[in-house]
Amino acid sequence: MNETPMRRIGMLGGMSWESTVEYYRLTNELVRARLGGVHSARIVLDSVDFADIETLQAAGEWEKAGVALAARAHAVEAAGAELIVLCTNTMHVVIDAIEDAVSVPVLHIADATARSIRAAGLTRVGLLGTAFTMDRDFYRGRLAGHGIDTIVPGAWDRQTVHTVIYDELVRGIVSDASRDAYRAVIERLVVDGAEGIILGCTEIELLVSASDSPVPVFPTTRLHVEAAVDLAFGDRLDGRSEEPST
Ligand code: GLU
Repeated sequence: MNETPMRRIGMLGGMSWESTVEYYRLTNELVRARLGGVHSARIVLDSVDFADIETLQAAGEWEKAGVALAARAHAVEAAGAELIVLCTNTMHVVIDAIEDAVSVPVLHIADATARSIRAAGLTRVGLLGTAFTMDRDFYRGRLAGHGIDTIVPGAWDRQTVHTVIYDELVRGIVSDASRDAYRAVIERLVVDGAEGIILGCTEIELLVSASDSPVPVFPTTRLHVEAAVDLAFGDRLDGRSEEPST
């Protein structure tokens, strides 16, 4: 069989599967948009049981979580993946362990997001995500490396944003009341100087879209997928081109 030259995308998903479904759908849509016809993406997906990961998060067992995800990343590479995306912002806290376990590129979600923020000409944005993502340095520090300054909501709002993710979005619950709560948090971030809003949890774009914000939003699932598909076709993130091997 003569295969279309396109790298096989490895996905480390299930965190939660509610957003992994979007990764799968968006990746296939973008490949079809590029190639037309009945073309679809070449994907290897490993989907973990999110309860296992959530238990480790709650216990602060990040090293164990890193070991577990590194093993899954290794399996994804062994199954033929030529690049890997970790389908969650939060678990990028253990990205080093994952990178060490594989020899293919691991596309950092914050790098993909930063690319889009810079392209929009913005340098100061609000960040919505889990408490881990908003409170710790692994994500904001990575963005700072791209010259992007992030502001996070106040403590009460951070709690609301976090609780909606774990009690609703990862369980498939999308409610108008929570959308209204997020809109109010976004308004306050804009008052504090946010020029854009990072939807920095892969489920948030199931709840909130551009129409819920007076400033541009940066949906990390979509942006991560766009970067992965670019790389699958050999487009480098710096905009230069490189041929994928067939
Ligand atoms: N999908 C979420 C994120 O992007 C949260 C779930 C998780 O903790 O992995 O951060």
